[in-house]
Amino acid sequence: MKSILIERLGLVGANVAAVGMLGASPCFGQGASTAAVPEARPADSDPIQTLVGRLDLEKYKATIEALTQFGDRRQGTARNRAAIDWIEARLRSDGCTNTARLKYAYFPTDRQLPSGPPIARGAHAAVGGARYRGIQAPTGVNTDPLRQPDEKLRALNSEPATPGPREEVYCTKIGTRHPQEMYIVGAHMDGHGWGEAANDDGSGAALVMELARVFASPDVQTERSIRFVLWNNEETGLNGSWAYVAQRAALQGREDPPGSGKYPEPKWLGMIQHDMMLFDHGMPRADGTVSKEQRPEADVNIEFQSTAKRAEGAQQLAWAFYAANEAYATDYPAAVGPHMTNTDSTPFMDLVPAISLRESERGREIGAGWDPHWHQPTDLYATFTDPDFRLGLNAAQTSLGAIARLCGATVVK
Ligand SMILES: [Zn+2]
Repeated sequence: MKSILIERLGLVGANVAAVGMLGASPCFGQGASTAAVPEARPADSDPIQTLVGRLDLEKYKATIEALTQFGDRRQGTARNRAAIDWIEARLRSDGCTNTARLKYAYFPTDRQLPSGPPIARGAHAAVGGARYRGIQAPTGVNTDPLRQPDEKLRALNSEPATPGPREEVYCTKIGTRHPQEMYIVGAHMDGHGWGEAANDDGSGAALVMELARVFASPDVQTERSIRFVLWNNEETGLNGSWAYVAQRAALQGREDPPGSGKYPEPKWLGMIQHDMMLFDHGMPRADGTVSKEQRPEADVNIEFQSTAKRAEGAQQLAWAFYAANEAYATDYPAAVGPHMTNTDSTPFMDLVPAISLRESERGREIGAGWDPHWHQPTDLYATFTDPDFRLGLNAAQTSLGAIARLCGATVVK
């Protein structure tokens, strides 16, 4: 099996350890025509296993909890700006010291760019091209402060958004051999609904920060670069990620200043978004209620968008993440689906392979009410239990393993 795979990937004569490194060819979609899933078991001396082992459930939980001190972190408020300052300080103290901020402006009256592909609507149509099955429960965004019973949290969340300037923070692990190429690893740090945005998207933001911490360690080298981005304004229509694409797409791969070996915007090899990582309790029951327990068969949902111009490459990227889950995730498996939508990967999906990781599929599952805390006052750190947090940790193990393979990570003495 392995040798067939090596041949198919054009890796004849390569070290078997490279089997997992689909990213040895950064141009997804131009190589193997079928999705090749490498066999999963890492070698005993696998440096990537060492890196995955540096993720920790308690650290992940602590980062989510720390983000909730800023309430729902709604864009255009002081609590949102304070959260960005805190995230930047934390990235720097974790060793990711080359932080930068993208600046843009947001006005609700601006023309909104799409949050997903245009999809024909039918009786069972869900966003992203998915199809509803079984029982659906209502979803929506809570806008009523009085539904937040915690008066302190209600007060913290009380400042409304003001239109105007916005910022979002990122930092970059610079590649040693190919600094001019990078994968983008993202999550959105803003939220709404009068809770603490613990799951949406404290869970994704904390995942990205934990990966930044592990890769920033001085004994870790990667051949390619990795950019960690904490998007703002996701909840208003992906405005922060649309602004990034508008400002920076044309800068890709340029050495600046010439001859410096510095690439302010390395060429994009792929974009991986993390959004709501914790809660997979299954379909609502006939009465609309959802199980209080994480279902034992919970999984990490990896989605690409089949209508994207770069769908073929995105699909291969999705399978590379699936394979990394098989190799490195301790508790929960992964599933791949073709209906990625309503996520900060959308602005990238026609330009580069783009995927999202979530607790459930966005269209037919989250969109059908599988997560009753979504955009609600109950999206609180205290709502979730260790089996929930562990699903997020497994997504972190999946993404760390996949990105480490794709970027050629090693641990140096
Ligand atoms: Zn979200």
